[in-house]
Amino acid sequence: MTHARTALIVGGGIAGPAAALALQKAGIDPVVYEAHPASAESIGAFLTVAVNGVDALRTLGADRPVIAAGFPTTAITVWSGTGKRLGAAAVSMTLADGTTGYTLKRADLYKAMHEQAASRGIRVEHGKSLAAAETISGGVRASFADGTSATGDILIGCDGTHSTARRIIDPNAPAPEYAGLINLGGYVRGVQVSAGPGTYHMIFGKRAFFGYALAPDGEVWWFANLPQPSEPARGSLASIGTSQWRQRLTSLFADDAGPATRLIQATAHDLAASPVHTMPRLPTWHTDRMIVIGDAAHAPSPTSGQGASLAIEDAVQLAKCLRDLPGPDRAFATFEQMRRPRAEKIIKQAARVNNNKAATGAARIVRDMMMPVMMPVYVRFIANGKPGRQLYGHHIDWDTPTLPMQK
Ligand SMILES: Cc1cc2nc3c(=O)[nH]c(=O)nc-3n(C[C@H](O)[C@H](O)[C@H](O)COP(=O)(O)OP(=O)(O)OC[C@H]3O[C@@H](n4cnc5c(N)ncnc54)[C@H](O)[C@@H]3O)c2cc1C
Repeated sequence: MTHARTALIVGGGIAGPAAALALQKAGIDPVVYEAHPASAESIGAFLTVAVNGVDALRTLGADRPVIAAGFPTTAITVWSGTGKRLGAAAVSMTLADGTTGYTLKRADLYKAMHEQAASRGIRVEHGKSLAAAETISGGVRASFADGTSATGDILIGCDGTHSTARRIIDPNAPAPEYAGLINLGGYVRGVQVSAGPGTYHMIFGKRAFFGYALAPDGEVWWFANLPQPSEPARGSLASIGTSQWRQRLTSLFADDAGPATRLIQATAHDLAASPVHTMPRLPTWHTDRMIVIGDAAHAPSPTSGQGASLAIEDAVQLAKCLRDLPGPDRAFATFEQMRRPRAEKIIKQAARVNNNKAATGAARIVRDMMMPVMMPVYVRFIANGKPGRQLYGHHIDWDTPTLPMQK
């Protein structure tokens, strides 16, 4: 097979625009097809681009405009619901110039990535929901729900946890797994918290998990993870109104120390909840001409703080493989061998913490007994030990040629 010259990128979240920037840098012409009719807005959702994600953005020349929309987050403090400090750690890994991880509103991250793509002349088509795709002579044809189609040399599925591309590549692909948690969050001004800017405070409450961080402009960004063992029926959470959520959250956190109830009650915007899903192990990532990357291939739980960063790393690594190796099939196989172990390790680590967040009944009692002993060690270990270095110190050298991996 010859090198790919054109790529259809399905999904304009984080992996999609990052892949477009990376492919263009590698000399491949991308077009992004996004299902939403306009840029996505997501109520109360924010995330952290860890330092390894910032490093991958830097390779694409996109780190400055992206992090300009957020604030540096450098430390984490973990509390019990009784107000006991269980552990604290500064995340010691930084880039050579001292740059750390950044927390951003999801909508601002999407916007910054799309602005980067637009400024480099990359076409993004909205309202294009992938419905089907097939291999044709020398390439692929993608068909969209609006009846239109597009052709290219390769198709890169960046369409997230509930990916359509994944099922096209492998109709027997497993469905995403429900993690036993409901997530929601918000932003609030005018509430005093005893926290400095840039530190995440995480509270393992009696009935649910609460996290918050103070932005430099005084706004407090918060999220809650509510254990719910059975998966909510599709669409059922959307029927729960803001005042019901406020009431439910207030009673869940009523017995916990910390600012959770004050923050929830003072939040003026609508609250919207979503179930947390993961994609722990997808057996097939690609065919000869189609591949999935980002959450479509390997969705960790939000607990990892790494989903977005992994998606950006994927984009850089895939573009390098396509640049350096003879034909997309070899490039895809090498990419998978390079990326799968890292992604699956991060997913496993996050799942362990998730189990603690989702603990109910006897499991919660055991958790609360173990937590004061385990948590200080765990927090320091992840932030500064070998796992921390492997997690945050990952660097993809754009200039070193990629060698094909052995079967
Ligand atoms: C509450 C929450 C908190 C999180 N916190 C963090 C964090 O702190 N740090 C972190 O790194 N990660 C975090 N994550 C995970 C992170 O958001 C994801 O890992 C990341 O968004 C993955 O990027 P992606 O581009 O693969 O998928 P997405 O961002 O989900 O983008 C997929 C895109 O594909 C589009 N799409 C879907 N289907 C189709 C179709 N058929 N045709 C065309 N387009 C389609 C969607 O509209 C969307 O725009 C969090 C996730 C959640 C839910």
